Amino acid sequence: MIQSAVKKFAREQVAPLVSTMDENAKMEKSVIQGLFQQGFMAVDIDPKYGGTGASFFSLVLVVEELAKVDASVALICDIQNTVVNGLVRKHGTEEQKAAYLSQLATAKVGSFCLSEAGAGSDSFALKTRAEKKGGHYVLNGSKMWISSAREAELFLVMANADPGAGYRGITCFVVDRDTEGFHVGKAENKLGIRASSTCPLTLEDVKVPEANVLGQVGHGYKYAIGSLNEGRIGIAAQMLGLAQGCFDYTVPYVKERMQFGKRLFDFQGLQHQVAQVATQLEAARLLTYNAARLVEAGKPFIKEAAMAKYYASEVKCCCC
Ligand SMILES: Cc1cc2nc3c(=O)[nH]c(=O)nc-3n(C[C@H](O)[C@H](O)[C@H](O)COP(=O)(O)OP(=O)(O)OC[C@H]3O[C@@H](n4cnc5c(N)ncnc54)[C@H](O)[C@@H]3O)c2cc1C
Repeated sequence: MIQSAVKKFAREQVAPLVSTMDENAKMEKSVIQGLFQQGFMAVDIDPKYGGTGASFFSLVLVVEELAKVDASVALICDIQNTVVNGLVRKHGTEEQKAAYLSQLATAKVGSFCLSEAGAGSDSFALKTRAEKKGGHYVLNGSKMWISSAREAELFLVMANADPGAGYRGITCFVVDRDTEGFHVGKAENKLGIRASSTCPLTLEDVKVPEANVLGQVGHGYKYAIGSLNEGRIGIAAQMLGLAQGCFDYTVPYVKERMQFGKRLFDFQGLQHQVAQVATQLEAARLLTYNAARLVEAGKPFIKEAAMAKYYASEVKCCCC
């Protein structure tokens, strides 16, 4: 049911806007509103917080279906669900869940802010600092490549509250966009997923109440690793959908296009290519669904999630 609801939404509300959003490098507000209205921004969040109450597997189907039509729309949905909502759901206090999950489920886009200019793959080398002053923390530093930052209203910012402890000082803070000293910079002019904003952030003496620490002080590195593990399955679903979307456009075309007096599809060399990609897509789908199934069963899934992301990305590269 959820898969056909997403398919309908993607076909009717996203597809007509894909080219414009890509050319303008801007996500249409109506698309984001639609994602919220349909419950796609909080797929596996409990209905008591305004979520849809569906499974993690359903979320994978949502991301895959959206990516068949627009990978940028799939990305904003994926990050909101697998990373932002996931962090609050797993590590937030009851008050934080009541406050933030209900906003993230119904109206507010969230961003996950870990990377910095000097901290990409080596993300725990981050330099953003959080200094405790009485009942609040003061955050200073900058972030790079933050997805959905142009649209986001809530930011989960990783900052080090105890640099002497190394990465064990990394702490996750919930920062409201309107907080004084918090600035979202100009979005990158990317080659792909252009409608998904990717922005730098600066934090200048950003005062955050102690109550905005998500989970425990010094546990941010664990939370980041955990959410990126599940996030890999979401990206696998995005790559899978994107590849399947390309394939679904290509096959009817090669069955229509005439060259040398025949349809392209009638040349056996081309049939071999179609068969190969169809097989790769099936393999990527099974890897992705299997990783999601393991998450739901509470079984170890890190290796399988990485394999799914790696393989689905490779298949996407063959297709697009
Ligand atoms: C579109 C987009 C959206 C993003 N969204 C977010 C977001 O929402 N939030 C966020 O926090 N970050 C985000 N990022 C940042 C992303 O997480 C980083 O780009 C990523 O961590 C890689 O860091 P880097 O780009 O600095 O590459 P680098 O770390 O500089 O790596 C460059 C190359 O070196 C290789 N390399 C690095 N270390 C090793 C090693 N030890 N051994 C072998 N090879 C190595 C890498 O594989 C890569 O090929 C986003 C990035 C992009 C492009």
